[in-house]
Amino acid sequence: MQMKPYWLDTAIPFAAGQAGEPQGRFDVAVVGAGFTGLSAALALARKGASVVVLEAGGVASAASGRNGGMCNNGFAQDYASLSAALGTDRANRLYRAFDAGVDMVEAIIEAEGIACHFKRVGKLKLAAKPHHYDKIARAQELLAREVDPDTCMVAPSDMHAEIGSDRYFGGMLFKKSAALHMGLFGQGLAEAAVRHGARIYENNPMIAMAQLEGGRGHRLTTPHGSVEAQQVLLATGTSRIGPLGWFRRRIVPVGAYLIATEPLPVELLDRLTPNRRNTTDTRNFVNYFRTSPDNRLLFGGRARFSSRSDPASDAKSGAVLRAAMGKVFPELAGVRIDYCWGGMVDMTRDRLPRAGEREGVFYAMGYSGHGTHMATYMGAIMAEVLDGRADLNPWADFDWPAIPGYFGTPWFLPFVGAYYRYQDLVK
Ligand SMILES: Cc1cc2nc3c(=O)[nH]c(=O)nc-3n(C[C@H](O)[C@H](O)[C@H](O)COP(=O)(O)OP(=O)(O)OC[C@H]3O[C@@H](n4cnc5c(N)ncnc54)[C@H](O)[C@@H]3O)c2cc1C
Repeated sequence: MQMKPYWLDTAIPFAAGQAGEPQGRFDVAVVGAGFTGLSAALALARKGASVVVLEAGGVASAASGRNGGMCNNGFAQDYASLSAALGTDRANRLYRAFDAGVDMVEAIIEAEGIACHFKRVGKLKLAAKPHHYDKIARAQELLAREVDPDTCMVAPSDMHAEIGSDRYFGGMLFKKSAALHMGLFGQGLAEAAVRHGARIYENNPMIAMAQLEGGRGHRLTTPHGSVEAQQVLLATGTSRIGPLGWFRRRIVPVGAYLIATEPLPVELLDRLTPNRRNTTDTRNFVNYFRTSPDNRLLFGGRARFSSRSDPASDAKSGAVLRAAMGKVFPELAGVRIDYCWGGMVDMTRDRLPRAGEREGVFYAMGYSGHGTHMATYMGAIMAEVLDGRADLNPWADFDWPAIPGYFGTPWFLPFVGAYYRYQDLVK
C-alpha cells in the first residue's frame, strides 16, 4: 500500500515551474498553488497581468490534490438553516455561486483543454438511518422549490438501481454534481497559467511579507529569494507557514482521509455503484466514495476528528475506512488497498468560505470541504476583485471573527468529535 494520494501518483508531474530564485516585480503575487491560487493566476494572466505564484510545496500538493475527487454542487450548510439565518435571497445567491463553481471548473477544462476525466455523474446523498430519509426528502422539496430543481429523491425501494448495498434507506440526487481527476486538473491549471504567462515557483514558502513605501505594494520573501508585487492574493488554505497568524485564528484544519482499492472488475463496479455517482451519507462521521478512471473504489471519510495527517496517522484512519468500506460493501472486504492518504480540510466556524481584503492584502479560503469548485471559482472571482470588482465577491459582506480560545492548535477537535459521534448514535 502506498501512503500517498492516488491523484498525485497518477498525474503527470507539473514540469513548467520556474527554476532559480524568485525575483522581479509583478502586478500580482499569488501565495499558494492549490485550486484557488492556480485559478486566480490563470484568470489574472489571461487578463494580461504579470503574475508570480509562490508555492511552499508542489503544485496542488495540499488539499487540492489530496481530496475526495468530488465537484459537488450545493454548500456544506443545510439549505433550510442557512436560508432561515440569511434570508432566502441571500442563501440562494450563495447556492448559485456553488453551482457557478461547477460550471466554471467545466468551462476552464474545456477552454484550456485539460484532460482530467470531468463528468457530471451526480451526487447521491444516502440516508444512513430510515428516519433520515424523511428529513432529506423535506430538504429536497424545499431546495427544488427555491433554488435547485435539478435534485430528486431516490426511494428506498429503488436503492438497488443506485447502489449494491443494503445499508442505506433511500437518498437524494444532485444531478449537477461532477467528478474529475484532481491531480490532472491541478497540473492542467498550472500549465495553463504558465502558458498564459504566469511564473510559478514551487518549494518557495512565503516566510515574510512587508509593505513597500509609496503605495508600491508588497515585498514577499522566501528562503530562496524575494519578489515585489503591486497586489497580493493569499490562497493558502490551512497554512501553518509564514506570517498568516490572523487566518490561523479563523481556519481550523480538520483531517480527512481516503483509501483507494486495487482496480476492480467492471462487472463488480456495475453492481456496487452502477451509475458511478459521487456518493456520501447523512452521518457526521460521513463516508463517501466514487470510482476512479481506472476502476478503483476511492473510499473516504472523517474516520477520526484530528488535525494530523502523516503516514502513521493516515494508516490509522485507513484501517477505520477499510472496515467501514467492508460494512457498506461486504464483497470488498478482502480486496487489496493500493493507496491511503489524508489531508487538511479548511474549516471555518460556520462552514462558509471567506474572501476579501485585509490591510491591503487579498485572500480567499475556508471552503470547508466544498473547495473543488468554490476554490476554482473564487480564484477567478478574486482576479476580478483585484481589478476593482469587489461587488462580484459573494462573501464580501461576511464578517470573520476569530474563534475564541483558538490560536492555531485545534485542541477542541476531540471534544467536537465526541459530540458528533454521540449525535450519530442518537439521531
Ligand atoms: C482529504 C480531503 C478531501 C476533500 N474532499 C473534497 C471533495 O471531494 N470535494 C470538494 O469540493 N472539496 C474537498 N475537499 C476540500 C478541497 O480540496 C479544498 O477546499 C480546496 O482544495 C482548497 O483549495 P485551496 O487552493 O484554497 O487550498 P490548498 O489546496 O490547501 O492550497 C493551498 C496552498 O498554499 C500553499 N501555502 C500555504 N502557505 C504558504 C506560504 N506561506 N507560502 C507559499 N505557499 C503556501 C500550500 O502549500 C498549498 O499548496 C477535501 C479536502 C481534503 C483535505
